Amino acid sequence: HSAAKAPPTPSPLRFSKFFQPNMRILVTGGAGFIGSHLVDRLMENEKNEVIVADNYFTGSKDNLKKWIGHPRFELIRHDVTEPLLVEVDQIYHLACPASPIFYKYNPVKTIKTNVIGTLNMLGLAKRVGARILLTSTSEVYGDPLVHPQEESYWGNVNPIGVRSCYDEGKRVAETLMFDYHRQHGIEIRVARIFNTYGPRMNIDDGRVVSNFIAQAVRGEPLTVQAPGTQTRSFCYVSDMVDGLIRLMEGENTGPINLGNPGEFTMVELAETVKELINPNVEISMVENTPDDPRQRKPNITKAKELLGWEPKIKLRDGLPLMEEDFRSRLGKPTN
Ligand code: NAD
Ligand code: UDP
Ligand code: UDP
Repeated sequence: HSAAKAPPTPSPLRFSKFFQPNMRILVTGGAGFIGSHLVDRLMENEKNEVIVADNYFTGSKDNLKKWIGHPRFELIRHDVTEPLLVEVDQIYHLACPASPIFYKYNPVKTIKTNVIGTLNMLGLAKRVGARILLTSTSEVYGDPLVHPQEESYWGNVNPIGVRSCYDEGKRVAETLMFDYHRQHGIEIRVARIFNTYGPRMNIDDGRVVSNFIAQAVRGEPLTVQAPGTQTRSFCYVSDMVDGLIRLMEGENTGPINLGNPGEFTMVELAETVKELINPNVEISMVENTPDDPRQRKPNITKAKELLGWEPKIKLRDGLPLMEEDFRSRLGKPTN
């Protein structure tokens, strides 16, 4: 008899030989704000192997630094407007700039990302038999004539406006999802995400919550865009990630609204940030951009009934959770 051999030393390279993931998951746009929080949650499950594909337009490797080098994690620099060949079981398709400043910067590219990018991910899903979830948006409702917005509402979108690259782009992306589902039997999930906030938002991306927090931390006036009576409903990112995973794992295609129904005017938001983060700052009224929706609030009855989901974190509790992250990135730590 030959002597028993010592078991091989586990190393990242050898690991794959022994490690049989139950679920291989692609997250496009995983280096971004919501995507990186989603990756954190998916990586907590030892059965998951996560591949991120991102072109770093608005995302950053920094958001994923704790996973780089992890044996169950892989990061690919990839633009979704190009075909992608990987073998996966699930696709969370988030890749797309979400902030108006960034999606208007190169509107043709934004449309390509939404249309060709989604087409490619659907082609991939078809080839490998993966389930695919699209992060669509409340912007598909445009400047809504129905309030609060429910999924059956078809929306009021300007097809030739400066926001159309994003909102019409997402509308086509939804159409592609449902046509691949009907024509090719692809398993699809469509989430309509309402305004989401939390740590890792781009400091300079012009969205209202990140603007106000950064302004409050810097001691600058909070810039409310006129008239200030327009409303939004803000969902904390951990609640959003929870909703996305429930949708992916559940049996319903959607579209399903995911958002926090707590509705605030921009003046109320500014006053709340002022009170919680820096009572010394002023609130100033500035000019608005075209086609700004006047009101927005999700009806989340479907998410409650079909996913057993509703947000847990109130705005007043979520805003302070962003403060430390913004302070450290702005080089203004708390005393
Ligand atoms: P984000 O800009 O932080 O993340 C988007 C990510 O996609 C970034 O990492 C970016 O580099 C990447 N990306 C962009 N174009 C790409 C391309 N062509 N190829 C590969 N990667 C590309 O935005 P976010 O807030 O995390 O939003 C994520 C998704 O959720 C987006 O699809 C967005 O439309 C949707 N959404 C977000 C909100 C919100 O309030 N944050 C609201 C509605 C919908
Ligand atoms: N595609 C991809 N990865 C794959 C399979 C397809 O990126 O693993 C792309 C492919 O390049 C095509 C798109 O997805 O542009 C749609 O693919 P599909 O097979 O549905 O359509 P076709 O290739 O017949 O146009
Ligand atoms: N807004 C504001 N001050 C800012 C940035 C935005 O008052 O510094 C307003 C903007 O006019 C809009 C709302 O905040 O009414 C939400 O804008 P954001 O760009 O965050 O998201 P979206 O318009 O996509 O919902």
